[in-house]
Amino acid sequence: MAKEVDRCSFCGRLKSETNVLIAGLEGHICDLCVEQAQTIVREEMSSKHELQLGDIKLLKPIEIKKYLDQYVIGQEDAKRVLSVAVYNHYKRITQAPSKKDEEEIEIEKSNIIIVGETGTGKTLLARTIARMLHVPFCIADATVLTEAGYVGEDVESILSRLLQAADYNVLAAEKGIIFIDEIDKIARKSDNPSITRDVSGEGVQQALLKLLEGADVNVPPQGGRKHPEQKMIQVNTRDILFIAGGAFNSIDKIIGSRLQTNIIGYSFDKEKEQIDKENMLQYIAPGDLKTFGLIPEIVGRLPVLTHLNPLDKAALKRILIEPKNALTKQFAKLFAMDNINLSFEEDALEYMVEKSVEFKLGARGLRSILESILTDAMFELPSNGEDTSELRITLEYAQSKFKNSNISRLRVA
Ligand code: ADP
Repeated sequence: MAKEVDRCSFCGRLKSETNVLIAGLEGHICDLCVEQAQTIVREEMSSKHELQLGDIKLLKPIEIKKYLDQYVIGQEDAKRVLSVAVYNHYKRITQAPSKKDEEEIEIEKSNIIIVGETGTGKTLLARTIARMLHVPFCIADATVLTEAGYVGEDVESILSRLLQAADYNVLAAEKGIIFIDEIDKIARKSDNPSITRDVSGEGVQQALLKLLEGADVNVPPQGGRKHPEQKMIQVNTRDILFIAGGAFNSIDKIIGSRLQTNIIGYSFDKEKEQIDKENMLQYIAPGDLKTFGLIPEIVGRLPVLTHLNPLDKAALKRILIEPKNALTKQFAKLFAMDNINLSFEEDALEYMVEKSVEFKLGARGLRSILESILTDAMFELPSNGEDTSELRITLEYAQSKFKNSNISRLRVA
C-alpha cells in the first residue's frame, strides 16, 4: 500500500508541521518528540541515580562519631575529623547534578590520610565507616603496587578489588571507599626531587594521583595484569572516597625539627614550649608528609589529615571489653553456643593487656593471647554435655594457660 503522507508515529504531526522528521524502520519521529523523549530519559536516569544514593545512609557528623564510638576506642580527634570529612563527602555526591550546574560551585573531594602507628585502628576506622554507609569497601596495600609495566600490581587492580566488593555493580563501586594501607612505603626515598627520580616510589605515587583526582579508568574485571582479550569495565573514581593510612615511622623527627625551627624563628610563646614529646603525631602538618617523601600533588589530593594516638594499657583493656564486637564478647558468644557462660576477672584482663604490651603485639596481639588462653577450654568443654556451665577466667587460669602456649615463646627482644 502506498504511503500518502509522512507523519510522526508518536504525536501524529504531519511532516509539514515539524522542523525535522526522522525516518525509522517502521515509523517516524519528529524533533519535538525527540526532545521530549530526551527529557524523559534524563529524568529516568537521575531518579535511578537518586535510588543508588538513597541506599547510602547519611548520618550527621555527631551521629557518625557516635557510630564510630561503638567500635573504635579512643582516637577522639581522628573520629571527629573523619565524621566531618565523610559527611561532607557524601553530601557532595548526593548533590543533585542539575543543581550543581546552576550554581557552578563544585565541592571538591575530601580524601583522607590517617597517620598512626600500626595496630592503632586505621583500617578499623575505614572499615567501620564503610559498614555504616553500606557502601562497597576494599583494602589496597600500597607496597604491592608498581608503575604500569613493572613486576607487581598496576594501580587499576585496586579498582578491580572494589568492583568485586560491589558484586560488579559499577554504580555502587563508584560510591565506594578504598583504604590504601601503608602509603608511607611508596614515599620517595630522598627529599630531593630535582636530582634523581626515584622510580619505585614516585612512579606509583604518580599513578595513584590519577585515581585520587577522579578519572575514568579501564579496569580489568578479574584484576591482575591487563589482558588484550579481556573486556575492560570503565570505572569513574570521581566519587570514590580514598582513605590512606600509614605509620610513617620516624616522621616524629621531621615534626620535631619543624616545631623547633618555628619556635626559634617565630614567636616563642608558652604553649609551644610545652610540646608533648611522647606523641608528636598530634602536631602533624601536610608539609611533614612532603618532607617524608610524598609528592606535593598526592599530599594536595589527600586534604584531610588526621593522626591516631598510640594505645596505652587503659585503651587496650577497653578494646578487650567495650566495642560492640569486642573480643571478649565474641568469645562469650562462641561459648554460649555450647551453654557455657564465659566471664573474666579484672586482673585476668589486665594480665592479657600486660602481655600484649610486653610482647609488643599491641591491639592486634590481644586476639592471639585470648585465643591461647581459651584454646584448652574450647577443646574440652563442648563435650561436657548439655548442662549449662560456668567458665570464669581468673588471673591464675590465664597465667597457667598462657605460659604453656606457643606465643609465650615469641618474646620480642
Ligand atoms: P592499623 O592501624 O594497623 O590499620 P587495625 O585497624 O588493623 O590497625 O587494628 C588492628 C586490630 O586491633 C583491629 O582489628 C582491632 O580489633 C584492634 N584495634 C586497634 N585499634 C583499635 C581501637 N582504637 N579500638 C578498638 N579496636 C582497635
